[in-house]
Amino acid sequence: MINFTVGPVQSDYEIRKLGLEQIPYFRTPEFSKVMAESEKLILKFLNAPENSRAVFLTASGTASMEASVINILNRKDKVLIVNGGTFGQRFVDICNIHEIPFDEIKLGLGKSLTAEHLKKYDGGGYTALLVNLHETSTGVLYDLDLIDKFCKKNNALLIVDAISAFLADDVDMGKYAVDAVITGSQKALACPPGVSVIALSERAQKRVFANAPKILYLDLKRALKDGERGQTPFTPAVGILLQINARLRQIDSLKHGAADEIKRVASLAKYFRKAIKGLPFETVPENPSNAVTCLRPLNISAYEIFTTLKDEYGIWVCPNGGDLKEIIFRVGHIGCLSFEDYDRLIAALKAVTGEKK
Ligand SMILES: *Cc1c(COP(=O)(O)O)cnc(C)c1O
Repeated sequence: MINFTVGPVQSDYEIRKLGLEQIPYFRTPEFSKVMAESEKLILKFLNAPENSRAVFLTASGTASMEASVINILNRKDKVLIVNGGTFGQRFVDICNIHEIPFDEIKLGLGKSLTAEHLKKYDGGGYTALLVNLHETSTGVLYDLDLIDKFCKKNNALLIVDAISAFLADDVDMGKYAVDAVITGSQKALACPPGVSVIALSERAQKRVFANAPKILYLDLKRALKDGERGQTPFTPAVGILLQINARLRQIDSLKHGAADEIKRVASLAKYFRKAIKGLPFETVPENPSNAVTCLRPLNISAYEIFTTLKDEYGIWVCPNGGDLKEIIFRVGHIGCLSFEDYDRLIAALKAVTGEKK
């Protein structure tokens, strides 16, 4: 079985081996030390300015999206949401549920956000912008430079869901004034699902402490306070956090750290994209993330490709849901994958699309 989905993705042997160990008790100086190191490494990989913090929540990425919105923002904010697919819509749903006023920029399938789109909202009194840097449902990567300029000009907070972009595309909290970066354990971190991470700028932390969220489990004040001593308010997914720490240390030991991991993911994406040229697929996004290639097959249903690859070739690609189920599918480039894995996938895709038996 080879897994080319966008999460959970394949973990390497060293990380999987840790899953065999007994789970240690965690209210100890030893575990606190591990957590402090993980926080430091996350912030390092994000090039986060001094006084930034990162918290680890035992919950999937969506919980960290929701926690970011309800802890940093409140009903007096006016939010702009970039909605280019399933995950943009999720921010819309979160703001609706929590009654946070917003406008949304709706983008067509795989379409990039442009200066033209943003122009309309310039000077509109927006206090925050929410974006999924890589809208994983279509593979489009938005232009952070453009978004950052808009936010700075409008003095708006910038909350970035980088759940699938972290360690696959460049996410730089130092270069850009990003107030919150969200990621999750099962994407490019390539660990089991169950933990998500929020890195917070000093400005975002101030908002968190000034706000009064009506929630206990996702209260970031508690997470930040306990995190100061390497602890979490509630029992975390201790085993996964140990795997995350090992994975972060692995990446840190690379010559150029996170940049090398991003390069590795990019090289897998490039290899695959080059090899499928000439196959009956249209590439969906204009500006694709390194993490995923989103394809529209021209002569066969996308869902049939997913099913045939799974049942006949032992290969998992990522199907889309809803209206797009038959139309597009995605091939991931994150996790423990090799060029040989792609050779197998490419041969299978050729066979399935009838290009070469
Ligand atoms: C995977 C993903 C999520 C959702 O994460 P869950 O862990 O399934 O809650 C949110 N946003 C983006 C961009 C993602 O890729």
